[in-house]
Amino acid sequence: MDELLITGIQRFSVHDGPGIRTTVFLKGCTLRCPWCCNPENIRGEPEVYFKAEKCIGCLECVRRCSFLDKPGDIFRFPEHLECAGSCPSAAMGVYGEVKGADDVAEVILRDLDYYISSGGGVTFSGGEPLLQAEAILKVTSRTGDVHTAVETSLFAPMESVGRLRGEVDLFIVDVKILDEARCREVTGGDLEVFRRNLEGLSDERVLIRFPAVKPYTFNRENIRALIRFLKESGVDYIEVLGIHRLGLEKYRSLNLQMPEFSAPRDDEIKKLKWLLEKESIRMNYLKI
Ligand code: SF4
Ligand code: SF4
Repeated sequence: MDELLITGIQRFSVHDGPGIRTTVFLKGCTLRCPWCCNPENIRGEPEVYFKAEKCIGCLECVRRCSFLDKPGDIFRFPEHLECAGSCPSAAMGVYGEVKGADDVAEVILRDLDYYISSGGGVTFSGGEPLLQAEAILKVTSRTGDVHTAVETSLFAPMESVGRLRGEVDLFIVDVKILDEARCREVTGGDLEVFRRNLEGLSDERVLIRFPAVKPYTFNRENIRALIRFLKESGVDYIEVLGIHRLGLEKYRSLNLQMPEFSAPRDDEIKKLKWLLEKESIRMNYLKI
């Protein structure tokens, strides 16, 4: 598998691991987190979008596609990827692009000097990058010694974790909801899969991240469970991700409703910090 399905490559990222990084966003995920800020990365195939605010009303799309009566009609014809791609102002288009490993590696290697001076590298994010483990290996075989991180929820086949073990320098692991029934109900994920995969990474470098989302992850029961989990796993440092609603436009562009959720207040984050420090666990709050 020499190709990746991606939604973008972001150069000069500073929140996806150490130093200055290039982040590759892979499309396809096993979960459905209500707070997901990248809904365009969830489905594992290209999909059409329409951004009404960008439409200049030229009707080029209607001329090209006999099925469309008006631009927003594209959601009724999700298989018309080519028609969606005909828009001159990118009001209509396709999320998801197949890129060769060579091309992705070439973009990554453009910023080699920055990685060296800042201790950075490349991060494969998503979606769930483990679903494209083989393709990631094809890229890293071309990027050589560039520091490689993978941002994962670990809700992925064990074989994928096995393939990337020893090849990735840092696994950035999201810990979300630690009650089995609640995790399944809210995200659709089987916590047993997460646990088994985490055990499989016992010899690897792992950074735990906790997305702080009210009411889903940031509630009394889940925070208690999180602290218990961190203590049992011997973790003494985590990053807490401040969640935002900047994905709203993306939900609209996919004709989806963005679920309700909110970020904790500053005083609630301070309390979490205090609770963690009582257990000798340091935390860094990333308010993105
Ligand atoms: S081609 Fe693009 S800008 Fe023109 S009407 Fe269609 S969606 Fe709008
Ligand atoms: S694991 Fe990440 S990409 Fe997948 S649905 Fe959850 S937040 Fe979105």
